[in-house]
Amino acid sequence: MDTQPNSPEARDIRYNLHAYTNARRHQEAGPLIIEKGEGIYVEDNSGKRYIEAMAGLWSVAVGFSEQRLVDAATKQMSKLPYYHSFTHKSHSPLIDLAEKLVQMAPVPMSKAFFTNSGSEANDTAMKMIWYRSNALGQPQRKKIISRQRGYHGVTIASASLTGLPNNQISFDLPIANVLHTASPHYWREARPGETEEQFSTRLAEELEKLILAEGPETVAAFIGEPVMGAGGVVVPPAGYWEKIQAVLKKYDILLIADEVICGFGRTGEMFGSQTYGLQPDIMVMSKQLSSSYLPISALLINDKVFEPLADESNRIGTFGHGFTAGGHPVAAAVALENLRLIEERDLVGNAREVGAYMQQRLRELSSHELVGEVRGIGLIAAIELVADKATKAPWGQPGALGALTNGLLQQNGVISRNMGDALAFCPPLIITRAQVDEIISALKTSLDEALKQVKA
Ligand code: PMP
Repeated sequence: MDTQPNSPEARDIRYNLHAYTNARRHQEAGPLIIEKGEGIYVEDNSGKRYIEAMAGLWSVAVGFSEQRLVDAATKQMSKLPYYHSFTHKSHSPLIDLAEKLVQMAPVPMSKAFFTNSGSEANDTAMKMIWYRSNALGQPQRKKIISRQRGYHGVTIASASLTGLPNNQISFDLPIANVLHTASPHYWREARPGETEEQFSTRLAEELEKLILAEGPETVAAFIGEPVMGAGGVVVPPAGYWEKIQAVLKKYDILLIADEVICGFGRTGEMFGSQTYGLQPDIMVMSKQLSSSYLPISALLINDKVFEPLADESNRIGTFGHGFTAGGHPVAAAVALENLRLIEERDLVGNAREVGAYMQQRLRELSSHELVGEVRGIGLIAAIELVADKATKAPWGQPGALGALTNGLLQQNGVISRNMGDALAFCPPLIITRAQVDEIISALKTSLDEALKQVKA
């Protein structure tokens, strides 16, 4: 790190409070400053190149140097740089993108609504559901069930839905009306001898118990990521979504699919809902919608949600919700071009094929002394590190081995992210087999280096 008083590193420490960072430790450790990107690679300010094996934050589907997105932004910027959708106003990118998303949806959807981040979209989902319950004359139906280790964002409502301690401790969260049920992590949570199907059955039974204990008439919706991302890449066990959805149907509880990570190809189908047979009433999407070149997120809602909402807005006089930059024309134009690229280049097919290869290569590491579990589907995966494979015990403090290995991997030219002791891999959808091999080779080296330190 450049420690000169006016180096970018020193100025970063002086002026920035970093997201998801230990602010005290940052004063010592300083930043990794990324200057540019090309394909699946990024380069720091010393000229060192890395494979961005997280696609930024699970988001840059088309890679870091897509000129067509730059051109789409420039063109829209010079034609109409800003407009909105309040009070009956509209614009072409908003109309085109809404139509495109409704047509792409794997289940019948009625309307799109645009927001700027995954968190805002999930807040909006919660507000729509409360509004709908009031419209239906069921003001008591306000509870939303989420899952431990689920990730839905960081605003007051969406951080309440998130089931991770760091998003709630000392923030005085969660708010009322949010409940959490068990995480479907078979490897960690299953009882000895329990099959995946039996584990899924048990989780569905636990969900039903929770609903009955709360009173089914008070539960409005269930929210889940088809595959959990930031909670450590948790792939649902066999039968899970089928059994969970049967319980939701029985009590007329809506399903929100948080497709913020899974959406647009990540799991090898266009949506994670297709991979796992979800039939959501609301779909929430962001990240790969625009490859995160510009911030944009969207909700798709079906008529079960739209119709009562429309009635309620008519009764009150307006649907009193919306963001200044929601459906921003430049972001929407970039999203449309990004979706065209994903389709033209069959990046979903690439996620399926190169994804299967990445899963196979990662599973070859299962025999490594430090690897407890390899899990994933398509181009999203995690390896969970343990000090003792039999007991699944961590090395010292939980997360220490993950942080150590993640640091070594970064030195070896691959950016991953450790969520506790799980190292995640979620590269751009354009990745090739040869580039997967580069990741695996750096990962092997890093695991061996970590093992040496563990043994010392
Ligand atoms: N939902 C999921 C599944 C996510 O992964 C994320 C972000 N990692 C969010 C919601 C929140 O999105 P944002 O950071 O854009 O608010």
